[in-house]
Amino acid sequence: MRNDVLAALKTIVGERHVLTGDAVASIEFPWNTHASCAARAIVSPASTAEVAEIMRCCNAAGQTVVPFGGMTNLVQGCATTADDIVLSLARMNRVEDVDRSAGTLTAQSGVTLQAAQEAAAAADMFFPVDIGARASCQLGGIVSNNAGGNKVIRYGMTRDTVLGLEAVLADGTVISSMNRYIKNNSGFDLKQMFIGSEGVLGVITRLVFRLRATARSHNVALLACEKFDDVVAILETANRSLPNTLSAFEVMWNSFYSLVVRPRGRLAPPLAPGQAQYVIIETMGVDQQHDTAAFESLLEDLMERGLLVDGVLAKSDSERELIWSIRDEVEPVIGNAHNFDVSLRSTDVGEYVRRVEAAIADLFPEASVIGFGHLGDNNVHVSVGGIDFDSDKIRQVEEQVYGCLEAFDGAISAEHGIGLEKRQYLPISRSEAEIGLMKTLKRALDPNNILNPGKVVDAAMR
Ligand SMILES: Cc1cc2nc3c(=O)[nH]c(=O)nc-3n(C[C@H](O)[C@H](O)[C@H](O)COP(=O)(O)OP(=O)(O)OC[C@H]3O[C@@H](n4cnc5c(N)ncnc54)[C@H](O)[C@@H]3O)c2cc1C
Repeated sequence: MRNDVLAALKTIVGERHVLTGDAVASIEFPWNTHASCAARAIVSPASTAEVAEIMRCCNAAGQTVVPFGGMTNLVQGCATTADDIVLSLARMNRVEDVDRSAGTLTAQSGVTLQAAQEAAAAADMFFPVDIGARASCQLGGIVSNNAGGNKVIRYGMTRDTVLGLEAVLADGTVISSMNRYIKNNSGFDLKQMFIGSEGVLGVITRLVFRLRATARSHNVALLACEKFDDVVAILETANRSLPNTLSAFEVMWNSFYSLVVRPRGRLAPPLAPGQAQYVIIETMGVDQQHDTAAFESLLEDLMERGLLVDGVLAKSDSERELIWSIRDEVEPVIGNAHNFDVSLRSTDVGEYVRRVEAAIADLFPEASVIGFGHLGDNNVHVSVGGIDFDSDKIRQVEEQVYGCLEAFDGAISAEHGIGLEKRQYLPISRSEAEIGLMKTLKRALDPNNILNPGKVVDAAMR
């Protein structure tokens, strides 16, 4: 039976698109456990029809299937066992159409985010999702994760950019919901079920995204502040004074900034390290002269009110890129750490991080706690490193980080999702009835529990 499935999969996609043995083990999970991949095979289809055939075959055999995009998720969403089949979308990497007048991009789900951004830019349009993993992560992956990223304050989460999609259910049924319109209330909006459900309800094969106009003005500044309350005051002021152009508001604690810029890190520091927080503030608009004047006037106002210790305004594309490269330099921060991604009121973030630092220092004096994140979207990342982690220490750290969050009524995942890693903590953020409905949906769409089993919720458990 086991060999029958492999033979059938080879017939569907061709022998050379089914990897087994050492070719599977040589693939590592790059951003999370760093473990090598265990699976019966990695199967790479080239079309929706092939995905449908694979799912029909696996469903009939009770064979579990784990979809792989770019493998950049941070929550063990792609974790496998030696009994799973991996369904890699990497060959489905065609941008099908960029329609300037409709403002849409249609693509297969294995297209990387960066390739989609470039295809939109080539048509003088703007793809509104951006995250640091852009070169590797795929459109199907960011949609399955409902990724957030650097531009949420202006354009919303990935969900807000998806107009339509096509997905294959566990039994091979193809749900083609390739809507291209901003408005379409013809019955249930089925695409929403697949967005953010981390590959447990269906395999996304094609997508339609809403593009935006390319910005004609671009301003970026790096600011240094001596306390978190000043950062919150800057955010409130920027939201009020730049309502139509504010496109990013990112915060980095000094623990982040000083690790990635020289002398400890590799990047040139536009501002000296050592202040409490650093902020990247960005606007994108249509009139460079007008928008720059408004941006500079905001910075002057902040300086006069004593909210800034220092600041630098980028004067060229290369200076803008240098500032953003600091925020994108997450590998030294998250590489060997246990990483958290929580949501809470922006005004509570400073106190929350302080409490986490204190709680972790009590338990593990050698640990480092690094804060950074998309403050404009109520989202802070906390990376706990410097510990020789085992499962018991991980649990203790998680209990502190989530324990501190409960006092602020926060969410355990702002944007990274649940995967396997946060499943046991889901009841902190979702009620019993909500989790029950998630399981009901999973059982209805995947009664044999073959699609990414155990991620988000354990449908096998009542
Ligand atoms: C350097 C770095 C920066 C990051 N920055 C951000 C950020 O700013 N904001 C943010 O939200 N996230 C961020 N992330 C995490 C983020 O979740 C992922 O980068 C991205 O959303 C995952 O895309 P992927 O193609 O790698 O998906 P994968 O990691 O391969 O998969 C993610 C999940 O979706 C499922 N899946 C993948 N493809 C499909 C498909 N076609 N159909 C159905 N299910 C599928 C998988 O089974 C898995 O559960 C970052 C990660 C890194 C490494």
